[in-house]
Amino acid sequence: MPSSADSDALFARALRVTPGGVFSPVRAFGAVGGTPRFVVRASGAYLFDADGNDYVDLVCSWGPTILGHAHPAVVEAVQAAAARGLSFGTPSPGEVELAEEIVARVGPVEQVRLVNSGTEATMSALRLARGFTGRAKVVKFAGCYHGHVDALLASAGSGVATFGLPDTPGVTGASAADTIVLPYNDVAAVEAAFREHGADIAAVITEAAAANMGVVAPRPGFNARLRELATEHGALLVLDEVMTGFRVSRSGWFGLDDVPADLLTFGKVMSGGLPAAAFGGRADVMAHLAPAGAVYQAGTLSGNPVAVAAGLAQLRLCDEDVYVQLDKTAAVVAGVVGDALTREGVAHRVNTAGNLFSVFFADTDVVDYDTARTQDTRRFAAFFHAMLDNGVHLPPSAFEAWFVGAAHDDDAIDRIATAVAVAARAAAEVGE
Ligand SMILES: *Cc1c(COP(=O)(O)O)cnc(C)c1O
Repeated sequence: MPSSADSDALFARALRVTPGGVFSPVRAFGAVGGTPRFVVRASGAYLFDADGNDYVDLVCSWGPTILGHAHPAVVEAVQAAAARGLSFGTPSPGEVELAEEIVARVGPVEQVRLVNSGTEATMSALRLARGFTGRAKVVKFAGCYHGHVDALLASAGSGVATFGLPDTPGVTGASAADTIVLPYNDVAAVEAAFREHGADIAAVITEAAAANMGVVAPRPGFNARLRELATEHGALLVLDEVMTGFRVSRSGWFGLDDVPADLLTFGKVMSGGLPAAAFGGRADVMAHLAPAGAVYQAGTLSGNPVAVAAGLAQLRLCDEDVYVQLDKTAAVVAGVVGDALTREGVAHRVNTAGNLFSVFFADTDVVDYDTARTQDTRRFAAFFHAMLDNGVHLPPSAFEAWFVGAAHDDDAIDRIATAVAVAARAAAEVGE
Protein backbone atom coordinates (compact mmCIF):
# COMPACT_ATOMS: atom_id res chain seq x y z
CA MET A 1 0.00 0.00 0.00
CA PRO A 2 1.31 3.47 -0.83
CA SER A 3 2.41 5.48 2.18
CA SER A 4 0.23 8.35 3.32
CA ALA A 5 2.34 9.45 6.30
CA ASP A 6 2.95 13.00 5.06
CA SER A 7 -0.70 13.48 4.06
CA ASP A 8 -1.76 12.16 7.46
CA ALA A 9 0.56 14.60 9.24
CA LEU A 10 -0.81 17.50 7.19
CA PHE A 11 -4.36 16.38 7.95
CA ALA A 12 -3.59 16.31 11.67
CA ARG A 13 -2.37 19.91 11.41
CA ALA A 14 -5.41 20.87 9.34
CA LEU A 15 -7.75 19.43 11.97
CA ARG A 16 -6.28 21.84 14.52
CA VAL A 17 -6.98 24.95 12.45
CA THR A 18 -10.14 24.17 10.46
CA PRO A 19 -13.30 22.19 11.23
CA GLY A 20 -12.96 18.65 9.96
CA GLY A 21 -9.60 19.41 8.39
CA VAL A 22 -10.96 20.48 4.99
CA PHE A 23 -12.22 23.69 3.39
CA SER A 24 -15.14 22.04 1.62
CA PRO A 25 -16.93 19.03 3.13
CA VAL A 26 -16.87 16.99 -0.08
CA ARG A 27 -13.11 16.63 0.27
CA ALA A 28 -13.36 14.84 3.61
CA PHE A 29 -13.27 11.05 3.71
CA GLY A 30 -16.17 10.85 6.15
CA ALA A 31 -18.25 8.65 3.87
CA VAL A 32 -15.45 6.22 3.01
CA GLY A 33 -13.21 6.30 6.10
CA GLY A 34 -9.56 7.26 6.26
CA THR A 35 -7.95 10.61 5.57
CA PRO A 36 -7.65 12.65 2.38
CA ARG A 37 -4.48 12.83 0.33
CA PHE A 38 -2.78 16.22 0.27
CA VAL A 39 -1.96 17.12 -3.29
CA VAL A 40 1.17 19.17 -3.95
CA ARG A 41 1.03 19.24 -7.74
CA ALA A 42 -1.25 18.20 -10.58
CA SER A 43 -0.56 17.77 -14.26
CA GLY A 44 -2.73 16.42 -17.08
CA ALA A 45 -4.70 13.44 -15.79
CA TYR A 46 -2.57 13.03 -12.66
CA LEU A 47 -2.44 14.23 -9.07
CA PHE A 48 0.81 14.04 -7.07
CA ASP A 49 0.52 13.86 -3.29
CA ALA A 50 2.77 14.93 -0.41
CA ASP A 51 4.05 11.36 -0.02
CA GLY A 52 5.23 11.14 -3.61
CA ASN A 53 2.35 9.00 -4.87
CA ASP A 54 0.56 9.74 -8.10
CA TYR A 55 -3.05 9.10 -9.01
CA VAL A 56 -5.15 9.17 -12.13
CA ASP A 57 -7.65 11.84 -11.17
CA LEU A 58 -11.34 11.16 -11.74
CA VAL A 59 -12.44 14.22 -9.78
CA CYS A 60 -10.88 16.93 -11.98
CA SER A 61 -11.42 19.51 -9.23
CA TRP A 62 -15.11 18.47 -9.33
CA GLY A 63 -15.35 19.54 -12.94
CA PRO A 64 -13.27 22.61 -13.77
CA THR A 65 -10.09 20.99 -15.12
CA ILE A 66 -11.68 19.61 -18.28
CA LEU A 67 -8.48 19.94 -20.34
CA GLY A 68 -6.37 18.30 -17.64
CA HIS A 69 -4.52 19.87 -14.75
CA ALA A 70 -2.21 22.79 -15.39
CA HIS A 71 -2.91 22.89 -19.12
CA PRO A 72 -0.02 24.94 -20.55
CA ALA A 73 -2.24 27.38 -22.47
CA VAL A 74 -4.41 28.06 -19.43
CA VAL A 75 -1.41 28.46 -17.12
CA GLU A 76 0.22 30.81 -19.61
CA ALA A 77 -2.93 32.93 -19.86
CA VAL A 78 -3.07 33.14 -16.06
CA GLN A 79 0.58 34.10 -15.77
CA ALA A 80 0.23 36.79 -18.41
CA ALA A 81 -2.93 38.18 -16.78
CA ALA A 82 -1.40 38.11 -13.30
CA ALA A 83 1.59 40.09 -14.53
CA ARG A 84 -0.78 42.80 -15.78
CA GLY A 85 -2.47 43.14 -12.38
CA LEU A 86 -4.51 40.96 -10.07
CA SER A 87 -7.68 43.00 -9.70
CA PHE A 88 -8.72 46.40 -11.00
CA GLY A 89 -12.06 47.24 -9.39
CA THR A 90 -13.22 48.76 -12.67
CA PRO A 91 -14.12 47.11 -16.00
CA SER A 92 -11.47 45.31 -18.05
CA PRO A 93 -11.60 43.79 -21.55
CA GLY A 94 -11.31 40.13 -20.50
CA GLU A 95 -14.64 40.13 -18.69
CA VAL A 96 -16.40 41.30 -21.85
CA GLU A 97 -14.69 38.59 -23.88
CA LEU A 98 -15.69 35.86 -21.44
CA ALA A 99 -19.27 37.13 -21.35
CA GLU A 100 -19.30 37.18 -25.19
CA GLU A 101 -17.95 33.62 -25.29
CA ILE A 102 -20.73 32.39 -22.99
CA VAL A 103 -23.42 34.28 -24.90
CA ALA A 104 -22.10 32.87 -28.19
CA ARG A 105 -22.15 29.31 -26.90
CA VAL A 106 -25.48 29.11 -25.09
CA GLY A 107 -28.55 30.05 -27.16
CA PRO A 108 -30.88 31.27 -24.38
CA VAL A 109 -28.20 33.44 -22.78
CA GLU A 110 -28.48 36.97 -24.11
CA GLN A 111 -26.78 38.65 -21.16
CA VAL A 112 -24.60 37.36 -18.38
CA ARG A 113 -23.22 38.52 -15.02
CA LEU A 114 -19.93 37.12 -13.77
CA VAL A 115 -19.68 36.07 -10.11
CA ASN A 116 -17.20 34.11 -8.00
CA SER A 117 -18.86 30.77 -7.29
CA GLY A 118 -21.72 28.58 -8.40
CA THR A 119 -23.39 29.29 -5.09
CA GLU A 120 -23.41 33.00 -5.84
CA ALA A 121 -24.74 32.31 -9.33
CA THR A 122 -27.81 30.37 -8.14
CA MET A 123 -28.40 32.69 -5.18
CA SER A 124 -28.35 35.71 -7.48
CA ALA A 125 -30.44 34.04 -10.18
CA LEU A 126 -33.17 33.27 -7.65
CA ARG A 127 -33.10 36.79 -6.24
CA LEU A 128 -33.48 38.08 -9.78
CA ALA A 129 -36.32 35.64 -10.50
CA ARG A 130 -38.11 36.77 -7.35
CA GLY A 131 -37.48 40.42 -8.13
CA PHE A 132 -38.64 40.02 -11.72
CA THR A 133 -41.85 38.12 -10.92
CA GLY A 134 -42.65 39.75 -7.58
CA ARG A 135 -43.28 36.25 -6.22
CA ALA A 136 -41.69 34.39 -3.32
CA LYS A 137 -41.80 30.64 -3.84
CA VAL A 138 -39.18 28.51 -5.51
CA VAL A 139 -39.52 24.90 -6.61
CA LYS A 140 -36.45 22.68 -6.32
CA PHE A 141 -35.90 18.94 -6.48
CA ALA A 142 -34.70 16.59 -3.78
CA GLY A 143 -31.12 15.54 -4.42
CA CYS A 144 -30.35 18.54 -6.64
CA TYR A 145 -27.54 20.69 -5.28
CA HIS A 146 -27.33 24.35 -6.17
CA GLY A 147 -24.55 25.44 -3.85
CA HIS A 148 -24.97 26.32 -0.19
CA VAL A 149 -27.65 28.96 -0.68
CA ASP A 150 -29.81 29.05 2.48
CA ALA A 151 -33.12 28.70 0.71
CA LEU A 152 -31.83 25.81 -1.41
CA LEU A 153 -30.41 23.71 1.43
CA ALA A 154 -33.87 22.36 1.92
CA SER A 155 -34.62 18.88 0.71
CA ALA A 156 -37.76 17.68 2.42
CA GLY A 157 -39.35 14.25 2.32
CA SER A 158 -40.24 12.57 -0.89
CA GLY A 159 -43.31 11.44 -2.73
CA VAL A 160 -45.47 14.44 -2.00
CA ALA A 161 -45.12 18.16 -2.47
CA THR A 162 -43.69 19.35 0.81
CA PHE A 163 -42.65 22.73 2.01
CA GLY A 164 -38.96 22.70 2.59
CA LEU A 165 -37.60 22.00 6.00
CA PRO A 166 -34.02 23.15 6.34
CA ASP A 167 -31.46 20.35 5.98
CA THR A 168 -28.95 22.06 8.18
CA PRO A 169 -28.87 23.96 11.45
CA GLY A 170 -28.32 27.65 10.78
CA VAL A 171 -30.88 27.85 8.00
CA THR A 172 -34.06 29.22 9.52
CA GLY A 173 -37.48 27.87 8.77
CA ALA A 174 -38.23 31.30 7.36
CA SER A 175 -35.52 31.14 4.71
CA ALA A 176 -36.59 27.65 3.63
CA ALA A 177 -40.33 28.25 3.95
CA ASP A 178 -40.68 29.53 0.40
CA THR A 179 -38.87 26.52 -1.03
CA ILE A 180 -41.05 23.71 -2.36
CA VAL A 181 -39.06 20.48 -2.61
CA LEU A 182 -40.30 17.85 -5.05
CA PRO A 183 -39.04 14.44 -6.12
CA TYR A 184 -36.79 14.64 -9.19
CA ASN A 185 -38.17 13.40 -12.49
CA ASP A 186 -41.72 13.46 -11.13
CA VAL A 187 -43.84 15.49 -13.54
CA ALA A 188 -47.07 14.81 -11.65
CA ALA A 189 -45.61 16.32 -8.47
CA VAL A 190 -44.63 19.48 -10.35
CA GLU A 191 -48.07 19.74 -11.94
CA ALA A 192 -49.67 19.39 -8.52
CA ALA A 193 -47.39 22.05 -7.00
CA PHE A 194 -48.28 24.49 -9.77
CA ARG A 195 -51.98 23.73 -9.38
CA GLU A 196 -51.78 24.58 -5.70
CA HIS A 197 -49.22 27.42 -5.62
CA GLY A 198 -48.88 28.51 -9.25
CA ALA A 199 -49.58 32.18 -8.63
CA ASP A 200 -46.87 32.35 -5.94
CA ILE A 201 -44.08 30.49 -7.70
CA ALA A 202 -41.25 32.74 -8.89
CA ALA A 203 -39.09 30.01 -10.35
CA VAL A 204 -38.40 26.35 -10.81
CA ILE A 205 -34.72 25.61 -10.39
CA THR A 206 -33.27 22.27 -11.43
CA GLU A 207 -29.88 20.92 -12.35
CA ALA A 208 -29.99 20.73 -16.14
CA ALA A 209 -29.09 17.09 -15.55
CA ALA A 210 -28.82 16.07 -11.91
CA ALA A 211 -25.27 15.11 -10.98
CA ASN A 212 -24.98 15.86 -7.28
CA MET A 213 -26.79 12.74 -6.02
CA GLY A 214 -24.64 10.73 -8.37
CA VAL A 215 -25.64 11.19 -11.99
CA VAL A 216 -29.37 11.06 -12.66
CA ALA A 217 -30.37 12.33 -16.07
CA PRO A 218 -33.75 13.97 -16.48
CA ARG A 219 -36.28 11.62 -18.05
CA PRO A 220 -36.91 12.50 -21.70
CA GLY A 221 -39.27 15.45 -21.73
CA PHE A 222 -38.88 16.29 -18.02
CA ASN A 223 -37.08 19.63 -18.50
CA ALA A 224 -39.39 20.45 -21.43
CA ARG A 225 -42.44 19.91 -19.20
CA LEU A 226 -40.91 22.19 -16.56
CA ARG A 227 -40.55 24.78 -19.30
CA GLU A 228 -44.24 24.46 -20.24
CA LEU A 229 -45.48 24.62 -16.66
CA ALA A 230 -43.33 27.63 -15.80
CA THR A 231 -44.53 29.49 -18.89
CA GLU A 232 -48.17 28.60 -18.23
CA HIS A 233 -47.99 29.98 -14.69
CA GLY A 234 -45.76 33.00 -15.27
CA ALA A 235 -42.81 31.53 -13.38
CA LEU A 236 -39.20 31.46 -14.59
CA LEU A 237 -37.27 28.30 -15.39
CA VAL A 238 -33.74 28.34 -14.01
CA LEU A 239 -31.48 25.59 -15.32
CA ASP A 240 -28.42 25.11 -13.16
CA GLU A 241 -25.60 24.23 -15.55
CA VAL A 242 -22.80 24.82 -13.05
CA MET A 243 -21.68 21.23 -13.50
CA THR A 244 -22.96 20.40 -16.98
CA GLY A 245 -22.20 23.75 -18.66
CA PHE A 246 -19.40 23.55 -21.24
CA ARG A 247 -18.74 19.97 -20.06
CA VAL A 248 -21.33 17.75 -21.73
CA SER A 249 -21.22 19.77 -24.95
CA ARG A 250 -19.76 23.08 -26.09
CA SER A 251 -22.76 24.80 -24.48
CA GLY A 252 -23.67 22.24 -21.86
CA TRP A 253 -26.84 20.22 -21.32
CA PHE A 254 -28.55 22.76 -23.61
CA GLY A 255 -26.55 21.24 -26.47
CA LEU A 256 -28.12 17.82 -25.79
CA ASP A 257 -31.64 18.86 -24.77
CA ASP A 258 -32.35 22.36 -26.04
CA VAL A 259 -34.98 23.47 -23.55
CA PRO A 260 -34.73 27.26 -23.39
CA ALA A 261 -34.44 28.36 -19.77
CA ASP A 262 -35.12 31.94 -18.72
CA LEU A 263 -32.00 31.96 -16.57
CA LEU A 264 -29.00 29.62 -16.48
CA THR A 265 -26.15 29.31 -14.02
CA PHE A 266 -22.57 28.35 -14.81
CA GLY A 267 -19.33 27.70 -12.97
CA LYS A 268 -16.72 24.93 -12.89
CA VAL A 269 -15.51 24.53 -16.52
CA MET A 270 -15.95 28.24 -17.36
CA SER A 271 -13.66 29.12 -14.43
CA GLY A 272 -10.63 27.34 -15.86
CA GLY A 273 -9.92 26.29 -12.27
CA LEU A 274 -9.94 29.73 -10.63
CA PRO A 275 -12.90 31.13 -8.69
CA ALA A 276 -15.34 32.30 -11.35
CA ALA A 277 -18.96 31.55 -12.20
CA ALA A 278 -21.84 33.25 -13.98
CA PHE A 279 -25.55 33.49 -14.41
CA GLY A 280 -27.40 34.79 -17.42
CA GLY A 281 -30.39 34.46 -19.66
CA ARG A 282 -33.17 36.54 -21.18
CA ALA A 283 -32.16 40.16 -21.70
CA ASP A 284 -35.53 41.45 -20.44
CA VAL A 285 -35.04 39.53 -17.19
CA MET A 286 -31.37 40.45 -16.81
CA ALA A 287 -32.36 44.11 -17.34
CA HIS A 288 -33.79 44.01 -13.81
CA LEU A 289 -30.30 43.51 -12.37
CA ALA A 290 -28.41 46.46 -10.84
CA PRO A 291 -27.18 48.85 -12.07
CA ALA A 292 -29.53 48.52 -15.08
CA GLY A 293 -32.42 47.57 -12.80
CA ALA A 294 -33.45 47.42 -9.16
CA VAL A 295 -32.39 43.90 -8.11
CA TYR A 296 -29.10 44.33 -6.26
CA GLN A 297 -26.14 42.06 -6.96
CA ALA A 298 -22.45 42.88 -6.63
CA GLY A 299 -18.94 41.54 -6.06
CA THR A 300 -15.54 43.07 -5.29
CA LEU A 301 -13.75 40.38 -7.30
CA SER A 302 -16.45 39.58 -9.88
CA GLY A 303 -14.96 39.43 -13.36
CA ASN A 304 -11.51 39.15 -11.80
CA PRO A 305 -9.01 39.55 -14.65
CA VAL A 306 -6.92 36.50 -13.73
CA ALA A 307 -9.92 34.19 -13.29
CA VAL A 308 -11.45 35.51 -16.49
CA ALA A 309 -8.22 34.83 -18.39
CA ALA A 310 -8.20 31.24 -17.14
CA GLY A 311 -11.83 30.66 -18.09
CA LEU A 312 -11.46 32.24 -21.49
CA ALA A 313 -8.29 30.31 -22.34
CA GLN A 314 -9.98 27.06 -21.34
CA LEU A 315 -13.26 27.69 -23.18
CA ARG A 316 -11.44 28.69 -26.35
CA LEU A 317 -9.69 25.32 -26.35
CA CYS A 318 -12.92 23.40 -25.71
CA ASP A 319 -13.81 22.72 -29.33
CA GLU A 320 -15.89 19.93 -30.89
CA ASP A 321 -12.89 17.55 -30.86
CA VAL A 322 -12.59 17.87 -27.09
CA TYR A 323 -16.22 16.88 -26.58
CA VAL A 324 -15.98 13.96 -28.99
CA GLN A 325 -12.96 12.74 -27.05
CA LEU A 326 -14.58 13.27 -23.64
CA ASP A 327 -17.67 11.34 -24.71
CA LYS A 328 -15.46 8.49 -25.86
CA THR A 329 -13.30 8.43 -22.75
CA ALA A 330 -16.32 8.58 -20.45
CA ALA A 331 -17.96 5.69 -22.30
CA VAL A 332 -14.79 3.59 -22.10
CA VAL A 333 -14.26 4.20 -18.38
CA ALA A 334 -17.93 3.68 -17.52
CA GLY A 335 -17.88 0.47 -19.58
CA VAL A 336 -14.75 -0.83 -17.88
CA VAL A 337 -16.24 -0.25 -14.43
CA GLY A 338 -19.61 -1.78 -15.33
CA ASP A 339 -17.97 -4.86 -16.87
CA ALA A 340 -15.72 -5.44 -13.85
CA LEU A 341 -18.61 -5.16 -11.39
CA THR A 342 -20.73 -7.50 -13.51
CA ARG A 343 -17.87 -10.00 -13.62
CA GLU A 344 -17.66 -9.94 -9.82
CA GLY A 345 -21.43 -10.22 -9.41
CA VAL A 346 -21.76 -6.83 -7.71
CA ALA A 347 -25.20 -5.24 -8.06
CA HIS A 348 -24.77 -1.84 -9.68
CA ARG A 349 -26.15 0.74 -12.07
CA VAL A 350 -23.95 2.92 -14.24
CA ASN A 351 -25.89 6.14 -14.86
CA THR A 352 -24.88 8.59 -17.55
CA ALA A 353 -25.86 12.09 -18.60
CA GLY A 354 -23.81 12.99 -21.64
CA ASN A 355 -20.19 12.44 -20.65
CA LEU A 356 -21.00 12.66 -16.95
CA PHE A 357 -21.42 9.31 -15.27
CA SER A 358 -21.46 7.67 -11.88
CA VAL A 359 -21.74 4.20 -10.47
CA PHE A 360 -24.47 3.28 -7.98
CA PHE A 361 -23.98 0.13 -5.95
CA ALA A 362 -27.71 -0.48 -6.18
CA ASP A 363 -29.97 -3.18 -7.54
CA THR A 364 -32.75 -0.88 -8.70
CA ASP A 365 -32.73 1.76 -11.40
CA VAL A 366 -31.77 5.14 -9.98
CA VAL A 367 -34.11 7.89 -11.17
CA ASP A 368 -34.31 10.21 -8.15
CA TYR A 369 -32.91 10.82 -4.70
CA ASP A 370 -34.90 8.04 -3.01
CA THR A 371 -33.66 5.41 -5.43
CA ALA A 372 -30.12 6.85 -5.25
CA ARG A 373 -30.19 6.23 -1.52
CA THR A 374 -30.93 2.54 -1.96
CA GLN A 375 -27.28 1.95 -2.83
CA ASP A 376 -24.87 0.02 -0.64
CA THR A 377 -22.38 2.67 0.40
CA ARG A 378 -20.18 0.08 2.19
CA ARG A 379 -19.42 -1.51 -1.15
CA PHE A 380 -18.54 1.89 -2.54
CA ALA A 381 -16.17 2.55 0.39
CA ALA A 382 -14.31 -0.71 -0.28
CA PHE A 383 -14.23 0.04 -4.00
CA PHE A 384 -12.99 3.58 -3.38
CA HIS A 385 -10.08 2.55 -1.15
CA ALA A 386 -8.98 -0.21 -3.52
CA MET A 387 -8.95 2.33 -6.34
CA LEU A 388 -6.95 4.78 -4.24
CA ASP A 389 -4.43 2.10 -3.22
CA ASN A 390 -4.03 1.30 -6.90
CA GLY A 391 -3.44 4.86 -7.98
CA VAL A 392 -6.87 6.15 -8.99
CA HIS A 393 -8.47 9.11 -7.21
CA LEU A 394 -12.28 8.93 -7.13
CA PRO A 395 -14.72 11.29 -5.44
CA PRO A 396 -14.86 10.08 -1.81
CA SER A 397 -18.63 9.61 -1.89
CA ALA A 398 -21.03 7.27 -3.65
CA PHE A 399 -23.25 10.27 -4.43
CA GLU A 400 -20.88 12.12 -6.75
CA ALA A 401 -20.29 12.17 -10.48
CA TRP A 402 -16.97 10.94 -11.86
CA PHE A 403 -15.14 13.35 -14.13
CA VAL A 404 -12.87 12.66 -17.08
CA GLY A 405 -10.91 15.23 -19.01
CA ALA A 406 -9.17 15.61 -22.33
CA ALA A 407 -5.88 14.58 -20.68
CA HIS A 408 -7.13 11.08 -19.82
CA ASP A 409 -5.17 9.14 -22.42
CA ASP A 410 -4.73 5.41 -22.99
CA ASP A 411 -2.14 5.13 -20.19
CA ALA A 412 -4.52 6.70 -17.72
CA ILE A 413 -7.37 4.48 -18.90
CA ASP A 414 -5.15 1.39 -18.59
CA ARG A 415 -4.34 2.30 -15.02
CA ILE A 416 -8.03 2.79 -14.27
CA ALA A 417 -8.84 -0.61 -15.80
CA THR A 418 -6.18 -2.37 -13.72
CA ALA A 419 -7.37 -0.72 -10.52
CA VAL A 420 -11.02 -1.40 -11.28
CA ALA A 421 -10.40 -5.14 -11.52
CA VAL A 422 -9.04 -5.14 -7.96
CA ALA A 423 -11.66 -2.70 -6.68
CA ALA A 424 -14.58 -4.68 -8.09
CA ARG A 425 -13.29 -7.72 -6.21
CA ALA A 426 -13.01 -5.64 -3.01
CA ALA A 427 -16.60 -4.44 -3.46
CA ALA A 428 -17.76 -8.04 -3.98
CA GLU A 429 -16.05 -9.15 -0.78
CA VAL A 430 -18.00 -6.74 1.43
CA GLY A 431 -20.27 -8.93 3.59
CA GLU A 432 -24.01 -8.89 3.07
C1 LIG B 1 -20.86 22.77 -7.86
C2 LIG B 1 -22.27 23.15 -8.07
C3 LIG B 1 -22.80 24.34 -7.52
C4 LIG B 1 -22.04 25.20 -6.55
O1 LIG B 1 -20.90 25.77 -7.10
P1 LIG B 1 -19.77 26.34 -6.10
O2 LIG B 1 -18.81 27.01 -7.02
O3 LIG B 1 -19.22 25.15 -5.39
O4 LIG B 1 -20.43 27.27 -5.16
C5 LIG B 1 -24.08 24.71 -7.87
N1 LIG B 1 -24.82 23.95 -8.69
C6 LIG B 1 -24.36 22.79 -9.22
C7 LIG B 1 -25.21 22.01 -10.15
C8 LIG B 1 -23.08 22.36 -8.91
O5 LIG B 1 -22.64 21.19 -9.41
